[in-house]
Amino acid sequence: MNISEIVEKIDVERLKIVSIVGAGISKASGMPTFRGEDGMWDNYSAMELATPQAFAKDPQLVWNWYKARMRILLEAKPNNAHFALTELEEEGLSLGIITQNVDGLHEIAGSKNIIEIHGRIRYARCTSCNHIQRWDNHKIANERDSLLYCPKCKNSLLRPDVVWFGEPLDPLKSEKALDWLSQCNLVLVIGTSGVVYPVASFPSFAKKSGAKIIEFNIESTPLTPICDFSIFGKCEETLPVFVKELIRKVEKRKSEKNE
Ligand SMILES: [Zn+2]
Repeated sequence: MNISEIVEKIDVERLKIVSIVGAGISKASGMPTFRGEDGMWDNYSAMELATPQAFAKDPQLVWNWYKARMRILLEAKPNNAHFALTELEEEGLSLGIITQNVDGLHEIAGSKNIIEIHGRIRYARCTSCNHIQRWDNHKIANERDSLLYCPKCKNSLLRPDVVWFGEPLDPLKSEKALDWLSQCNLVLVIGTSGVVYPVASFPSFAKKSGAKIIEFNIESTPLTPICDFSIFGKCEETLPVFVKELIRKVEKRKSEKNE
């Protein structure tokens, strides 16, 4: 089935969409595998660096890695898939975006209702108090071999405000995500392979509440069997077409009602 045929099958009456987003959406924005400059990080994996244990053992190493990631991120821009989701929201069709990405590109694209379930790399938080501050600027990203300290408690280290491997998700964010998923009637699963729990369980949760599921991915995923429709291809190409056709259908429906 092509995109038009899939849109034809969607009931656009009182449409409430939730988008579940993964790393695939940010590829076209130049957010690669974070191997960094000069192959410097080739011998490390995220599993070794994005953990509380790694930070306790060598905070400088972990901060150097995040600064290398930030230097890449500062050059990245949202792409047409991010903008398509903003358009859905502006049309009043979206409850919100649940993203596993920490890059903040949805916000830059203009989306408002976003749950950053794995945190946000552009912010740092104190390891002792509740202080949080942005650090997404070239000055800090380029200061190599220096740590970030809390301006309130002076000697306490700041850490990236992200969820590391082995850490629990923020329960308030999970609760809000499940609330959206229980209210929506259409879920778009975009650029995520559906293997990282608990986010991987979100589509089936929504399906049980009666929502239809459409995935956008370059290939089939472990979620494909539970999806009503799968749209294969680069999401920065397929999603804008889908959104445009969906909005056209909604507008047509509205004008028919007013006649
Ligand atoms: Zn502090």
